[in-house]
Amino acid sequence: MAVYDAIVVGGGVVGAAIARELQSSGLQVVLCEKEKEWLTGASSGNTGHLGSNFYYTRSRAPLEAEMTAKAREINPSWLAGQYNVPARKDGLIYLARGEEEEKALDELLSLAEENRIRTVRRISILELKELEPGLDCEGVSSAILSEEEYIVDPWLLSMTHIYGCEVSGVDMKLDCEVQGAEKTGDVWAIQTNQGIIKGKLVFNCGGNYGDLVEKLGNPQSVPNFTIKPGKGEYLILSEDNPEQRVRRPILPVPTKQTAGVYIFKSISGHTVVGPTNIRQESRTDRSVSQDSIKIMMDHVQSLYPGTKVASLLGTYAGLRPATEHQDYMVSIDLTRGWITLGGIRSTGLTCSLALSQYICSQIIPGYSPSLVPLLPSPVLTGNRVRFGDKDYLPTHPLSSLNLFGYM
Ligand SMILES: Cc1cc2nc3c(=O)[nH]c(=O)nc-3n(C[C@H](O)[C@H](O)[C@H](O)COP(=O)(O)OP(=O)(O)OC[C@H]3O[C@@H](n4cnc5c(N)ncnc54)[C@H](O)[C@@H]3O)c2cc1C
Repeated sequence: MAVYDAIVVGGGVVGAAIARELQSSGLQVVLCEKEKEWLTGASSGNTGHLGSNFYYTRSRAPLEAEMTAKAREINPSWLAGQYNVPARKDGLIYLARGEEEEKALDELLSLAEENRIRTVRRISILELKELEPGLDCEGVSSAILSEEEYIVDPWLLSMTHIYGCEVSGVDMKLDCEVQGAEKTGDVWAIQTNQGIIKGKLVFNCGGNYGDLVEKLGNPQSVPNFTIKPGKGEYLILSEDNPEQRVRRPILPVPTKQTAGVYIFKSISGHTVVGPTNIRQESRTDRSVSQDSIKIMMDHVQSLYPGTKVASLLGTYAGLRPATEHQDYMVSIDLTRGWITLGGIRSTGLTCSLALSQYICSQIIPGYSPSLVPLLPSPVLTGNRVRFGDKDYLPTHPLSSLNLFGYM
């Protein structure tokens, strides 16, 4: 039986990014995903915001801050040649109402300064009205604009990693659930529903199941994190008055718990509202409640009165792999040959490439980053999309809307 250099558990955006980078650096890699399609977990229910995260600092979450800083540096070139991945550099506006929120905006500006980011600035209410003619500015007392913010097609961008895995030669296994792990000498024997897979290093990229995968590798110990998903619900609105529509993402002042509910224009031009942040026990419940629909509808209609003529086209929800910790739960134990990339709750799309390079730099002597290959033009085949000689199911509703015109 072949012994892989690396077994990556989990075919979300993080696992795929890492598998591709490891294989491109000369390791022999297998990527195991328990579902029948790639990118069905947290990676299929996000906003598609490739963010600057200019206000993240090391005091808040050291590794996430380091990764967001690296992402700011490398993501523009990841996007640059990807002509088949729709992306718009929309910028992003934070609104404040009243003294308390104005103070919070001042704090955000000083964090941008601390991170030496020059593309974040206060804007006047006059400029705000010019940038967002559809926005009802009543009660808004202050605003800031961050320019280096992208709205992307989230599935197509994540597919650059999956496609990269295919072309670099990663052994790709769908419907392959990792159910057990045992180490003998230097080699892990990983039990799956497709039989035993052997490898020298195991990467736990299990997303909302990361704590359970962790336990497989060390049944005696309690993982140092527990996943309790943070559900994020969204509304997608049907066509409204284009003049009155949101042009760039609008956000309230972020808190420690959440970046807040965005109003943004999706890559297909629809107005989207969300995500909420509801902590729940279930790792699978992606329902959208009537209460949330009403709250988000009221929210968008009060800020963009033009949306009162729009109807609800659809809803979706994603589950953030949230833990009891503020930071990512990343650990590298080369003695055991076990690497954990857990709890990557809300910046995983933005930081996937940065994380893959960081991990490789920690474990491969003389490592230098490889290029993510360019995604070819998507060929639509029924409800699937062909890249090269393989068909894939778009798992993200915003991407289905962009590619097929329906969710
Ligand atoms: C509502 C919401 C909004 C977000 N918005 C943004 C955003 O705008 N920008 C941004 O950068 N990030 C955003 N994120 C965060 C980003 O989507 C996540 O950080 C990222 O998708 C996490 O990827 P992952 O690969 O760790 O997890 P997942 O995508 O969940 O992948 C884990 C995979 O592991 C598989 N798996 C689990 N257990 C096993 C097993 N035993 N065997 C085999 N396979 C297994 C699962 O099936 C799953 O496919 C958002 C997330 C949510 C939910």
